[in-house]
Amino acid sequence: MTSIPFSLPVIDQPVIDEMMDTLTRTGWLTSGPKVRALEEEIAKFIGNPRVLCVNSWTSGAMLMMRWFNVGPGDEVIVPAYTYTATALCAMNMGATPVMVDVKDDFTIDPAKIKAAVTERTKMILPVDIGGYPCDYDAIADVLADPELRGKFRANGKRQETLGRILVLADAAHSLGATYRGRACGTIADVTVFSLHSVKNITTGEGGAIALSLPDGFDHDAEYKYLRVMSLNGQTKSAFEKNQPGAWRYDIIDQGLKVNMPDLCATVGLAQMRRYKDSLLPERKAIFKYYVDFFSRFDWAVLPPAGSADGTESSYHLFLLRVRGFDEARRDRMIQLISETGVGVNVHYIPMAMLTLFRNRGYRIKDYPHCFDLYQNEISLPIYNKLSEEKLAVICQSVADAYQETVKG
Ligand SMILES: *Cc1c(COP(=O)(O)O)cnc(C)c1O
Repeated sequence: MTSIPFSLPVIDQPVIDEMMDTLTRTGWLTSGPKVRALEEEIAKFIGNPRVLCVNSWTSGAMLMMRWFNVGPGDEVIVPAYTYTATALCAMNMGATPVMVDVKDDFTIDPAKIKAAVTERTKMILPVDIGGYPCDYDAIADVLADPELRGKFRANGKRQETLGRILVLADAAHSLGATYRGRACGTIADVTVFSLHSVKNITTGEGGAIALSLPDGFDHDAEYKYLRVMSLNGQTKSAFEKNQPGAWRYDIIDQGLKVNMPDLCATVGLAQMRRYKDSLLPERKAIFKYYVDFFSRFDWAVLPPAGSADGTESSYHLFLLRVRGFDEARRDRMIQLISETGVGVNVHYIPMAMLTLFRNRGYRIKDYPHCFDLYQNEISLPIYNKLSEEKLAVICQSVADAYQETVKG
C-alpha cells in the first residue's frame, strides 16, 4: 500500500542551494537580504510594489489591526466558514468577530453582510477559500451603501481617512489567484497571504502583507511605518544597524515583533521564483485531473475553479463534496479512504462548532449554509510533485469509498 500524505512542501535542490547560499555566503539569519528578495518576487508576481513579509498570516492580520486602531469594543466581520485564525487575530487584539454565512462557492455571502454591520464594525475579512476569490466587487458595493457608511464611527486618523469599514482579504490560500482579471493582492485595501507549511508557497511559518490603500493615504509612508511596526516599532533592523556607524535607532510607536527571518524567506524565495512558470501550473494540472475524473459522477459536487470573467483560483485546495451525504456518511467515507493510505482532510469544521466559539455563544444553527457545505466536504491532496500514478490511486480510492459507503 502506497501512503500518500495530504500535504507536502516543496523541498528540492533549488531550495537546498538557496539555503546553502544563506548559511555560507550571506551568513545572515534574521530579516535581511533574503526577506527583501522574497518581497520583491511576490511584488513582481502580483504587480503590487508594497509587499511586507511577516512571520505568519495571523501576525500580519494583527499588525494591520493595530495599524487601523482595532481593539476592545470593536467588531470584525468574518465568514463562518474559515480556519480559526481569521477570527482569532481579531480576538487576540481585543475585538469581537461577527460571523456571516457563506454561499455555494464557500466564500462570504455579500447579501448577508449588511445585517451584520453595527456602529462598532471596523473591518471585514473575506476569505478566498481554497484559493477561489470572494466576490470583492459585491462586497465593495455593500460597503459603499450610504446607510452603512453613515454608521461608521471613525476612531483615529486612519479610520477617519478611510471613512468606512476596511477590507482585509484573508488570502491565506490565494497567492496566484485572480478576480475579474486582477491579481489577489491588488484588490482589497489590505491583503494578507500565508506562507505556512501547507500553503502553495511556504517559508515554514510566514505571511506577506500587500497594501492597496485608496486615495487619501500616503502609501509609501504607511508602508515604511508598517515595516518599522513589524520590528517592535524600531526604525532600523538588526541588519541595518550592523552596518558600521549605523548603531543609533529610535522606537517610534508600540510595534509588534512579527518580522520574517532570512532563514525562512530563503525557502520561500527558491519556490517563489518558479511559482508562475512551474509550481502554480502544476497545481492547476492536478486540480484539472480531479475535475476530469470526478465530473463523470453525479454524486460529486466539484469546487469552483474559475469563470469567464477572468476569475481564477490558485488551486490551493480541492474541496470535493458528496451530494446528499451527512456528517456520519462523510466521516465513514473518509475512514475508508484513509484505510487505503490516502490522506484526506475536511476544510473546515465551522468555527461555531468548536468549543472556544460555542463557549462564547456562537451557534452553528445561525449559519445553516456553512453546515450544509461542511457536512459532506472532503479535501483531496493537491501539491507539487504529486504524480499521475498517485492521482490515479487517490481517485480510485475515493470512488471506491463512495460505493462502499452507499452500500452501507
Ligand atoms: C492557514 C490559514 C490562516 C493562518 O495562517 P498562518 O500563517 O498559519 O497564521 C488564516 N486563514 C486561513 C483561511 C488559513 O487557511
